[in-house]
Amino acid sequence: MPQPLPNASDFLPGPVLLLGAPGVGKGTQAQLMMAEFGIPQVSTGDLLRENRRNRTPLGMTADELMNTGQLVPDNLVNDMVSARLQEPDTQHGYILDGFPRTLNQAEWLDRQLVAYMLPVVAICIKVDEATLLKRITGRRISPAGAIYNIYFNPPKVEGICDVDGSKLEQRSDDTEEVFHERMKAFRSKTAAVIDYYRSHGGRFCEVDGDKPVHEVTHEIRKSLLSLRHHPEA
Ligand code: AMP
Repeated sequence: MPQPLPNASDFLPGPVLLLGAPGVGKGTQAQLMMAEFGIPQVSTGDLLRENRRNRTPLGMTADELMNTGQLVPDNLVNDMVSARLQEPDTQHGYILDGFPRTLNQAEWLDRQLVAYMLPVVAICIKVDEATLLKRITGRRISPAGAIYNIYFNPPKVEGICDVDGSKLEQRSDDTEEVFHERMKAFRSKTAAVIDYYRSHGGRFCEVDGDKPVHEVTHEIRKSLLSLRHHPEA
């Protein structure tokens, strides 16, 4: 059984990156970590979708790229992340979900964090590609952000959120066709980011994302405590 976590006052998670291909469970795990560690999830995908909904210039530029599974240019994403990380809730740490996705973004983040109290640590979640396809095409999300999957974690009533009864939605890029484009972007750009953190010893762990959600959470928690040299690790 997982032990209760040290509370935020005696354990500072610092900046944590969740890395991995589309559909490995970064969003689900980031939400669970957020509740457990009391630090915010910073999802670049969510921030871009919010910009898209609000029809900001960034949202309008990102729209077509997101719909076709391509990456939004580094300078735009970096500026967006920079603004988010200046908010006071990130003071004791944060979970970056979906960032960095290119080497350029990773190097930019390292430069940003030079003065930060703790170095950034990266946890990579691995899942085989056939499972990822089902996770992506089966994913349904409530407007409040609860995540379901019609194959692996269906809601009690089809199309309806168990928590607040809202109508579940499918992301426009969660189709098979766009999934393959997103995997191409992952292989050509983001795989190098994983190697970047792997090659900088002491800041990288890999966990098997094919296990049940709570087991993956447990592995991530263990990895984080060990990367931070916490005695409970
Ligand atoms: P996600 O919700 O993380 O799967 O991201 C959805 C889409 O947003 C991606 O397919 C990209 O088009 C865009 N996106 C999210 N994060 C980034 C990033 N760090 N760099 C570039 N594009 C991104």
